Amino acid sequence: MLSVYQLFGVNSKEQFADLISAKDHQDIIRQHRSELIASRIYPFALLFAILVPIWGVLDLIFLPAEVSIQFLIMRLASGIVFFALAYVTKKIRIGMKRALTSLMLMLMVPTLFYQFSTPLIDKVELTGIADILIHLYGLLPYVVIASLALFPLTLKEFGLFAVILTALSSWGLYRADGSDLTMLLVQVWLLLVILGVSMFSSLQQVRYLISQMVKASYDGLTKLLTRRAGMDIMESLFRATGLQQSNFAVLFIDLDKFKNINDTLGHDAGDEILRQTSKALSSCIRRGDAAIRWGGEEFLVLLPHTEASSAKNVVQRIMETGLAQLPDGTPVTASIGMAELVEDHAASWKELVELADQRLYKAKQSGRAKCICPDSTELHFPKLETAV
Ligand code: GH3
Ligand code: MG
Ligand code: MG
Repeated sequence: MLSVYQLFGVNSKEQFADLISAKDHQDIIRQHRSELIASRIYPFALLFAILVPIWGVLDLIFLPAEVSIQFLIMRLASGIVFFALAYVTKKIRIGMKRALTSLMLMLMVPTLFYQFSTPLIDKVELTGIADILIHLYGLLPYVVIASLALFPLTLKEFGLFAVILTALSSWGLYRADGSDLTMLLVQVWLLLVILGVSMFSSLQQVRYLISQMVKASYDGLTKLLTRRAGMDIMESLFRATGLQQSNFAVLFIDLDKFKNINDTLGHDAGDEILRQTSKALSSCIRRGDAAIRWGGEEFLVLLPHTEASSAKNVVQRIMETGLAQLPDGTPVTASIGMAELVEDHAASWKELVELADQRLYKAKQSGRAKCICPDSTELHFPKLETAV
């Protein structure tokens, strides 16, 4: 049975909610989407900044002087706004608010242009090329609504744009046609059809963007976060933690003698151990924590709002659960380095990871199968003799 979700190409309520509103979008998705919107505004804004004033030459040649001069003034004003928009959207890091405001401004220019141009045109009787030029102006509202299709907007954002632009355009069309209600209904119907198609395209772009981002954020083998995504998360977590004076602990985990496993049991068996380890790590952490595949057989566990004493509990849970087992039942162990924001006086997440890495190295040097904590205490995996 075809559900509403499938109609929009999504599989769950959560994914559908992401198309409706940006409320639950992750920071990386928000950032990427705002940059995408800006990168699409930029070439158009730049092109229009040049073309709109230049087109005034045609007005000067073909339209009566009193009309063409006023058009030229409007064209120059529009050109300046487009130029400013091109300038703002050229910046690489642009926030969502600024991207959406820029888009609204870009679409407002032709919409307002249309509003102001209709009373001017009404005053004069035109024939030939002048008549063609004027009819082109009449298409502006449709072009504006259709161009929404170029941008990845959520339903809420799209709705806001649609209501404002359709209301203004309908009003303009109504006045342009001598307040003919029948004509208005036909034109608004056409606007709504274009609006529907644009909306579908806009939402599909959001869906595609999110699915691509999710694909890029999770590692294919272990289904854990990739290093790149992990770094992005730490960047935003650290910013938030720094502001709220909260704590933040990380565990740097490196499997012991993993090369031996590959060498004796084969690469596929090695992959299976990595999958088991990832499952075990995921099962030992809470929602809001994160497990990252940092490198081949290296993992990073992020524990926001957690101090070292609680992080020790997490390590103990991991050690008791076990990471993975070889086919003969031998448990796989790891060396772990722990670092914690407050106790280590770390100034950045990079420093925190670096400290955890140093303690991991110490754990390797001093016999493996253990975790070294910020206060230099050690936690040990259960000994093999006692496990058997
Ligand atoms: P140590 O206890 O000192 O960490 O020894 P080790 O053998 O684990 O350390 P080393 O870093 O030398 O070895 C890591 C190995 O992990 C080497 C590499 O072939 C293997 N590896 C990396 N990525 C993958 C993977 O995706 N699948 C498999 N099967 N092996 C991988
Ligand atoms: Mg390693
Ligand atoms: Mg290793």
